[in-house]
Amino acid sequence: MKVPLLDLKPQYLQLKEEIDKAVLDVIDSQRFILGPGVKEMEDMFCEFLNVKHAFGVSSGTDALLLALMAAGIKAGDEVIVPTYSFFATAGVVSRLNAVPVFTDIDPVTFNIDPNDIERKITDKTKAIIPVHLYGQSADMDPVIEIANKYDLKVIEDGAQAISVQYKDGRCVGTIGDIGCFSFFPSKNLGCFGDGGLVVTNDDDLAYRLKIMRVHGGDPKYYHKVIGGNFRLDALQAAVIKVKLPALNGWSEGRRKNAELYTKLFMEKGLATEEGKIQFDENNKVLLPKAVYKNTGETELTNYHIYNQYVIRVEKRDELRKFLTENEIGNEVYYPVPFHRQECFKDLMNEYGNSGDGKPLMSMNDFPNADFAAEHSIALPVYPELTEEQITYVVEKITEFVKNN
Ligand SMILES: *Cc1c(COP(=O)(O)O)cnc(C)c1O
Repeated sequence: MKVPLLDLKPQYLQLKEEIDKAVLDVIDSQRFILGPGVKEMEDMFCEFLNVKHAFGVSSGTDALLLALMAAGIKAGDEVIVPTYSFFATAGVVSRLNAVPVFTDIDPVTFNIDPNDIERKITDKTKAIIPVHLYGQSADMDPVIEIANKYDLKVIEDGAQAISVQYKDGRCVGTIGDIGCFSFFPSKNLGCFGDGGLVVTNDDDLAYRLKIMRVHGGDPKYYHKVIGGNFRLDALQAAVIKVKLPALNGWSEGRRKNAELYTKLFMEKGLATEEGKIQFDENNKVLLPKAVYKNTGETELTNYHIYNQYVIRVEKRDELRKFLTENEIGNEVYYPVPFHRQECFKDLMNEYGNSGDGKPLMSMNDFPNADFAAEHSIALPVYPELTEEQITYVVEKITEFVKNN
């Protein structure tokens, strides 16, 4: 049996007629950049996410870059980011000649460890970027509390978590100052190329986001600020508009698949409970855990939408090889945390001091991220997977673990 990590075809076929028509309508209109279609999509997101302003942008990476620019991040500023995320989260900071300052992650959620933020704050710190990794909200209350205490901006990286609700029912991306999302095809809501979204409830930030998306002119060709080309194509907006109403159903599918994995791993005797952080005789597989149950009163109920279902195993690289040989898709998100990336090596030990007189960052400060990078592996979890496929994946992993 073949189990791909992700297959976008069945999702497209569900909506093919509507999507094809929407795309042809754009072609017919010959209006390709921003325009009324993008505006309609933005209005849909304002309602869907319950947020005042939404702007379609060229990618999730550009959403983050534009957000930092709108927040006024400049050369020499420090921005706190978890060391374990997709590269863009830290890369955008460096692209503005600001300095990404890394924190460790929580070993259960893989998200920013709030206890590691405060000691990384200096008089240069300007912002925090919590990432809602794999489709689960970061622990936002302490992040917001620290940000308020030190007057920092909070830019949420919700690239893997659009529609996820924090425990108070608010959608991620609407809790901090600016929220950033990606429509990269492998995200839960993907377009047919690159695309993204920024959202905010702050009118001044909204104005800056809006004009900086198109080079910063207001009016056109008159520039008080410098922006870039961060525009979304009308074709991508047309696809997203058709797909958005189906998103919650797809998320339910992913959650069901995750639940099945978890149940089967326990039945096979590979795990006793979700969210364990150490291997032992009865926990050869460490399972993910949805921590922030929604207690809000909103219609959405997703507190973990499993953009990725990530387990940890002792012999991760051998398991990868075994699964690949058996035609089971898998991936490692991410094999190298930021603090071990070559491009950031000058920041380790060399850059800055924390309040306790130690270097701001050194190689051994991030044990949870190192553990995740060494042991985590993502399994196929997309909504259209069958029960047989998931059962097969668990059987194969069981076979591997019993023999190794
Ligand atoms: C995908 C992703 C991004 C970047 O989004 P793109 O649309 O690919 O530019 C940023 N952060 C995280 C956590 C992501 O998963």
